[in-house]
Order: sequence, then C-alpha cells, then structure tokens
Amino acid sequence: MSQQNFRSILTGSFSTPCDDNPTVAMIEAAYQHHDIDARYINCDVKAEALKDAVAGARAMEWVGFNCSLPHKVKVLEYLDEVAESARIIGAVNCVSIRDGRLIGDNTDGKGFLASLKEVTDPSGKKVLLLGAGGAARAIAVELGLASAAHITVMNRDPKKAETIAALVRDNTSAKADVQAWDGDASVPEDVDILINATSIGLGDSETMPPLKIETLRKDMIVADVIPNPPRTRLLREAEGKGCTVLDGLGMLVNQGVICVEHWLGKTLDAGVMEKTLKDIFDAA
Ligand code: NDP
Repeated sequence: MSQQNFRSILTGSFSTPCDDNPTVAMIEAAYQHHDIDARYINCDVKAEALKDAVAGARAMEWVGFNCSLPHKVKVLEYLDEVAESARIIGAVNCVSIRDGRLIGDNTDGKGFLASLKEVTDPSGKKVLLLGAGGAARAIAVELGLASAAHITVMNRDPKKAETIAALVRDNTSAKADVQAWDGDASVPEDVDILINATSIGLGDSETMPPLKIETLRKDMIVADVIPNPPRTRLLREAEGKGCTVLDGLGMLVNQGVICVEHWLGKTLDAGVMEKTLKDIFDAA
C-alpha cells in the first residue's frame, strides 16, 4: 500500500465579490513556506447561498473558513458555538470546524490588537477611535477586553458611534463615550492611541481623515486600518510629527495568523504573509 496522501487540508473564504481579495495569496504563500499540505480556496458565495456553502464546507470536512462581506453577521445563524468577543461584536469572520461543530470567532479586532501590542500594551490607555463601522466595532470591543481605560468613538453619524460606545461600556471594564465628527477635529492632549478605522485612505494615498494634524503629539501612537496603500497620508503626517505609527497590513496579516492557529494549531510566519501582500499591492 502507498503511504502517499493525496488529500490536502481544506480552508478558504466565503464572500462576494471576492475576485480582488488577496487573502488566498497571503495564506497559501505561508502554507508553502511551512510545507503545510493545505489549500485556501477563495469562493464567491452570494448572500442567499451562504447556508449551502457552510453545509458544504462541513460535508467536505474543511477545517475552517473566513467569512467576509456580506456574511459576517448572517453566518452566526449557522454556528454551534461563538467566542465571547465575537458574540459581543455580533459578527464572525473566522469559523473553525471541529468534529462537525462550527465555532465562530472574530479575528479582525484581535489582529489589530496583536499589531498594537508590538508597540504598546493598551491596558490603561486612552484611545480616540475614528469611525463606527465593522472594523471600529471589532477594535473597540477588543481594546475594551484588553483593559483600555477609555475609548472615545468619533464618527460623522454619532448614533452609530453611540452603539459601539454602549457595547464597550456594557461588556468591558473600559469607559467609553462619543464625539460627533464635524470638520477638522482636534486630538485631545491626553490621547495615547489614535486609530483610523474609517475607510478614508483606501486606494488613495493622498486623502486623510479630517483632523488638525498640529494636535498630534510625538508620544502618541497613530494606527490606520487601511491595508492598501499601507503608508496612508495620516501615517506619513503622524510620522512627520514624531508619532509611532502602525499600518493596516499588520492587522490584516495578524488576523490571518490567528485564523490559521484556530484551524491548524500552527503559527504561520507573519513576515512571509506581509511580504506577499506588499508585493501584490506594489504591483497593482
Ligand atoms: P464600514 O463601511 O462598516 O464603515 C466605514 C466607516 O468609515 C464608517 O464609520 C463611516 O462613517 C466612515 N467613513 C467613510 N467615509 C468617511 C468620510 N469621508 N468621513 C468620515 N467618515 C467616513 O467599513 P468597515 O468598518 O468594514 O471597514 C473600514 C475600513 O477598514 C475599510 O477601508 C477596510 O478596508 C478596513 N479594514 C481593514 C482590515 C485589516 O485587516 N487591515 C480589516 C477590516 C477592515 P459613517 O458611519 O458616518 O458613514
């Protein structure tokens, strides 16, 4: 009998549209780097097909999959178990399949936190969070669970900001409030960490969130969730003021590292993943 094994471990992603999602290249580069016999399959799954796609993954014994837009909330209906922070956030981007059971987690905020922890411990810190969409929600909850002292959520639509602030207050030890965003905003002097979690700067290296740059201080950490282009104008301006900066590539890479830890119990080389993404974005 042959000892060869022709069946790869299966992982992947369900979203739509998905053609421009580079996660497959990032993760498969790392699988190859570590000589792991696994595949990551980028699947275009329409909203009405999610239930069948999830059942298919279970039937074909995939070990896990990512959910991206528009499935991050809807997928909750099909899961057997949900991690604490994903339950609070109300969205899942990473599903593991163990013994036929579907277990959901949200690794977006965790990926951000892993990047942030490379430069500071968020415990006890004061945060100004720009934006109140899905990325901001995941980041706010993880920062609260990591014992940030205070989070101010600033958004054009203050009602959306208040929903996130209330989630943080109700589920974590952090204090949270809201600031309406109307014109160029000042960054309060006592802010330790400023985070752009809006979509401003995506695909455009010259736009930046409306802020009074002169209010940045050099001991602040300024982070951006925008992965492409990674060196956003906000980060360039903040660097000019002497701030420590963090780009959105780190968040994207680290959320992928955490997903594969859930699926395979292995920690992939973040450097290989980051280089793959950089090469793709530079070539675009
Ligand atoms: P959403 O559409 O849910 O939210 C977008 C947010 O940006 C809203 O708060 C919106 O404000 C705000 N916004 C958009 N345009 C402006 C503007 N001109 N002025 C002020 N505010 C604005 O998006 P997501 O939260 O899902 O994603 C946000 C960004 O995060 C995306 O660019 C995405 O690429 C990135 N991202 C990066 C990840 C990574 O791993 N690096 C992971 C996930 C997301 P309002 O509510 O007032 O409309």
